[in-house]
Amino acid sequence: MRIPHSVPVAVLVAAAACTDAAAPRVDPPAYDPTQLSGGVVYRWPTGTTISVFVDPTAVSGVDLAGATAAGMAAWKSALGGSEFAFRTSTSAADADVIVHVSAAPRLVALAGCADPPAFAGGVTFFCPARDSALTLPLSGASAGHVKMDITINPAATNTANPLSALVTHELGHAVGIGGHSPNALDVMYASPAVTAPSARDIATLRWVVRQPIGIRL
Ligand SMILES: [Zn+2]
Repeated sequence: MRIPHSVPVAVLVAAAACTDAAAPRVDPPAYDPTQLSGGVVYRWPTGTTISVFVDPTAVSGVDLAGATAAGMAAWKSALGGSEFAFRTSTSAADADVIVHVSAAPRLVALAGCADPPAFAGGVTFFCPARDSALTLPLSGASAGHVKMDITINPAATNTANPLSALVTHELGHAVGIGGHSPNALDVMYASPAVTAPSARDIATLRWVVRQPIGIRL
């Protein structure tokens, strides 16, 4: 499923046909984290250490690695549990998630999936196949285990919608929030202005990580 956005950020998630029936009782999410995923929860298996590689292609004045590190720390700190962890990878071949600027060639092939939709600020992409996401082959044909690709367009950021907010927002999609908040004070607002997850964002992610997995990353 492709979800065009008129807003600066977008997540692309294709729908899968499977969901688990019995969800444990937890507080409800503050907003629908499956809005962009056809009602399907996608997330990493509990306890995953998510390896993130930031493509070094540079854009003047843009600290993508710094913004990514801050975003990873913000989400990990927000959740505070053992549901997932992050580590920074030094190579694409060792990455689960690749973050790159839109000016850089994508390091993964799309594995026969549809191209991500048009976007202004950023897009988070993965390619579901049944109940799990495909491993996206590295474009250099070497082996890898990339499941998710994040594209950031620094030119679409500004004082009101800074790079750090955009990167944290996309990482929120990467850890399983497949929706946007209607509240501008949340980092998962479609045009994110805040740079850290709010209580509402945290509650939403807490709900996600306690759900049965619909699409395993
Ligand atoms: Zn988004």
